[in-house]
Amino acid sequence: MRFDIITIFPEFFRGPLDHGVLSRAISSGIIWIVTHDLRNFAHDKHRTVDDRPFGGGEGMVLKPEPLVEAVESLGLAPKENREASRECVVLLSAQGRPFTQAVAQELASLDRLVFLCGRYEGVDERVNELVVDREISIGDYVLSGGELAAAVVVDAVARLLPGVLGNEDSSRYESFGGHGEQDASIPHSTHDAGGLLDYPHYTRPAEFRGLRVPEVLSSGDHAQIRAWRREQALKKTVANRPDLLESAQLSKQDTRIVEQFRRAKSGESV
Ligand code: SAM
Repeated sequence: MRFDIITIFPEFFRGPLDHGVLSRAISSGIIWIVTHDLRNFAHDKHRTVDDRPFGGGEGMVLKPEPLVEAVESLGLAPKENREASRECVVLLSAQGRPFTQAVAQELASLDRLVFLCGRYEGVDERVNELVVDREISIGDYVLSGGELAAAVVVDAVARLLPGVLGNEDSSRYESFGGHGEQDASIPHSTHDAGGLLDYPHYTRPAEFRGLRVPEVLSSGDHAQIRAWRREQALKKTVANRPDLLESAQLSKQDTRIVEQFRRAKSGESV
C-alpha cells in the first residue's frame, strides 16, 4: 500500500516512521510512504503557502493552489472515480469525521492513501471541495498541525495490512477488534474482543511489588482463562468506555456480567 503525505514539515515523519512495526513494514516493502514538501508547489520565490483569511480574524490559512497542485501531481484518478481506483485523499482536520478502528479497516482495504496536513488556522475550504475524499479528525481536541494526526492514521491503517504484524490475529483480538467471528484456528488462550476494550495483560515476574498475577492465568485451564479475559474486557469497557457496549456483541452471560459491573460502578460513585 502506498501512503503520500503532503506537508510543510516533511522531516517531521522521520521519527514516527523509523521505529518498530512501521519501519519493518517499510523495509519489507509492504508499505511505501512518500512525503511531499508543500512548499515545492508554491508560486513565488519565497515559497509562500499561506495567506490572510478573507473576512478577517485570527491567523493564516493554507492557500488552495499549492495543495490542489500537489495532489494533482500524484496522478490519482479524478475525485469521482476514486472509489473504483481504490485511492483516497484524506484531509486531517479537527472538523472531520471521527477516526475509529472501523475507519482504519475501511482505509486498509484501499491501495493508496494521500494525506493533506493542515497548519495555522487550517486549509482553504475549496481544497476540500476539489480534491478531498474524506475529512478525518483523530479526536475532539485541536493539534497545531495535521502531521501528528497523519502519523496516527498511517500507523493504525498499516498495522492492519497482511504481513505487517508478526501474528495476523493480533489486530483482530485487541481493543475494538473482531466483531464476533469466532474461528477454530484462534489459539484457545485468546478471545474475540467483539468491539470491547482489550483485557489486561500480564508477564513475568509472577509477583511484583506485592501484586500477584491473577492465579487463573497460570492455571493452564484455557476455558477458564478465556472466561476471565472476557469478564475483564467487559469490566474495563464498563469502567472506561461504556458507550462501546451499545454496539458490542454481547451474550446473555456477558449482559449479566455488565449489569453486575454497572451496579458496582454506580454504587462506588454514590
Ligand atoms: N481552526 C481549526 C479549528 O478550529 O478546527 C484548527 C486548525 S489547527 C490549529 C491546524 C491543523 O491541525 C488543522 O488544519 C488540521 O490539519 C490539524 N488538526 C488539528 N486538530 C486536529 C484533529 N483533532 N484531527 C486531525 N487534524 C487536526
